[in-house]
Amino acid sequence: MTSGTFASAGIDSKRQRALPLPGANAGMQSFIPDTSIASDVIPSANYGDRNNGRLADMIVLHYTGMPDVEGAIARLCAPGTDVSAHYIVLEDGRIVQCVPESKRAWHAGASCWAGEQDINSCSIGIEIVNRGHDWGYPDFPLRQIAAVIALCRGIMLRRKVPSHRVLAHSDVAPGRKKDPGEKFPWHSLANSGVGHWVQPAPIVRGETLRPGSISDDVAGLQAALARYGYNVPTHGKFDAATLEVVAAFQRHFRPARIDGVADHSTVSTLHALLASLPADAATTVLTAK
Ligand SMILES: [Zn+2]
Repeated sequence: MTSGTFASAGIDSKRQRALPLPGANAGMQSFIPDTSIASDVIPSANYGDRNNGRLADMIVLHYTGMPDVEGAIARLCAPGTDVSAHYIVLEDGRIVQCVPESKRAWHAGASCWAGEQDINSCSIGIEIVNRGHDWGYPDFPLRQIAAVIALCRGIMLRRKVPSHRVLAHSDVAPGRKKDPGEKFPWHSLANSGVGHWVQPAPIVRGETLRPGSISDDVAGLQAALARYGYNVPTHGKFDAATLEVVAAFQRHFRPARIDGVADHSTVSTLHALLASLPADAATTVLTAK
């Protein structure tokens, strides 16, 4: 495959146009893609080796959060930006590989999941082209989601990634990130065997845990979120960090309302998820009170 060209025929004139490569990147050496469903390889300059020989056993999904696809590809591939991803999934379903799966792409930034902080070393990063919350946040086209599903299924098989380790950037960096966001159809992925999901419990009136609360119930909520994998304090005080993690949880698992308030629906959905995890999957939590 040749860098910077797209073999598949597009639907409209915009898609028939080859996407321009960042010029400074044109000399990058190409590589054989890890999957036959990648339509092209655009090598990124931004990657390294996985630390301590760590193998990828997690997938982190992102949106590009930029107004146009050309700019997003340039940012993820050009030298000096210090960001990259293994794959970019375009709105029309084409899949571009930018970093070999064996290498450490730079997509997660300061992140944490299940006690692990070097998320880039243990994950495959997939950037889904979408303008994001700052640029109108359009729906994800079905053909794009179908491509994400196919790509993830292959990675899960190749890398033995369990469903509960297919995560959002917002799950591993809840204080900094919202992507891929509450419009991302996690239920559709789960219907195809990708990602851990339960039907969210209905939203009803009743008691809530909210910012400022200090109680054993808050400590229990925090411990449950931490057991699922979130990086959250477990001191029993509903602080700003807890609010961010509850909102991240809602964005992924209870997207009908994202307010950071732990209502009955949020807590029930969390416990249903924990109950349906594989026996060896829950994170050990050391509570400090
Ligand atoms: Zn991201």
